Amino acid sequence: MQNMELDALYAEVILDHNRRPRNWGELPPPARKVEGFNPLCGDRLTVWFDLADDIVRDVKFMGEGCAISKASASMMTQAVKGKTLEQAEELFGRFHRLVTGTAAEADPSLGSLRAFAGVARFPARVKCASLAWHALHGALHGEAATTTEE
Ligand code: ZN
Repeated sequence: MQNMELDALYAEVILDHNRRPRNWGELPPPARKVEGFNPLCGDRLTVWFDLADDIVRDVKFMGEGCAISKASASMMTQAVKGKTLEQAEELFGRFHRLVTGTAAEADPSLGSLRAFAGVARFPARVKCASLAWHALHGALHGEAATTTEE
């Protein structure tokens, strides 16, 4: 497949998740709630994590943001649900390497998350794509808020 076709396919995945975000909503306590804020773009997401028995049992999110931040959050919730905390942390690392362009090549094990490989070319967009993932990282480390400013 040519690169342009691949880019178009990936753009379609992102637009679809932006239009119909998966796992949209809240989780009741004792789910961990993490507020994510990206001042550069104005993205504000709240992500709820039900972490029990070392497993990400459920994830939901709500918020306002650009298409990239919402699509990324939607796909993050799908990607980490059912994973162990260690697997989720590891996936955070692989996704972060993908969007910062430090992975040697798009990691095939990331599946449809590779749709975000293109943002590595746009530094301002990296923070949009990684916002929900920083919230995940925060939840795993017991933080209630995260910002892309760090
Ligand atoms: Zn954004």
